[in-house]
Amino acid sequence: MKTAIQLTLCLLLVAMTCTRSMAQQAPPFTPMEKKHIRVATPGLFATDKHLYIHLDSLSEGEYCFPLPGGKVISPYGRGGGRHTGTDIKTRANDTIRCAFNGIVRMACVYGAYGNVIVVRHPSGLETIYSHNSKNLVGSGDVVKAGQAIGLTGRTGRATTEHLHFETRINGQHFNPNILFNMEKGTLRHECIRCTKNGNGIVVKPCATAPSAAAQ
Ligand SMILES: [Zn+2]
Repeated sequence: MKTAIQLTLCLLLVAMTCTRSMAQQAPPFTPMEKKHIRVATPGLFATDKHLYIHLDSLSEGEYCFPLPGGKVISPYGRGGGRHTGTDIKTRANDTIRCAFNGIVRMACVYGAYGNVIVVRHPSGLETIYSHNSKNLVGSGDVVKAGQAIGLTGRTGRATTEHLHFETRINGQHFNPNILFNMEKGTLRHECIRCTKNGNGIVVKPCATAPSAAAQ
């Protein structure tokens, strides 16, 4: 009987310890989310077919061009739509900066992307930084707009040191030029509307920013 009680107490202690350490170290992302770029974001579009990215309400310090001073060497959509991001170049081992506040979902080597970082932002938007010579952050890290997250390189399938920058919503890529003027390196201070349409998502600036959707 005594042994049984001791055993129960012991198990209880182990369970409590496990629960506590899991709560402390619980990764915010599933193994799938940590290993794959194109994954759906849980709950996104669950209650509304529209989702808004309010670039119009961002103030200084809440956004940053991912490679300041960078020049576009290959635009989104090149090759009959095959290019899923915009290529920007400065020099080797230059600092890649996070575009908006968020949490690193994925930071690893991923096929043709080489060293890649995927950041999920509160709006549901995701930004991707690829071909890095080095990733400076890991999955689960909270990151700020402008924070150094990697260094430019040519890992994966790349012929020169550059940043391949992607923007995605629910796993689907769209033209980063909708968020930033990629040639000028400036943010477009607009409301962006993402509309679920069958299996696809249409991303474009709102004609008029809806006040009801301002939350
Ligand atoms: Zn590219």
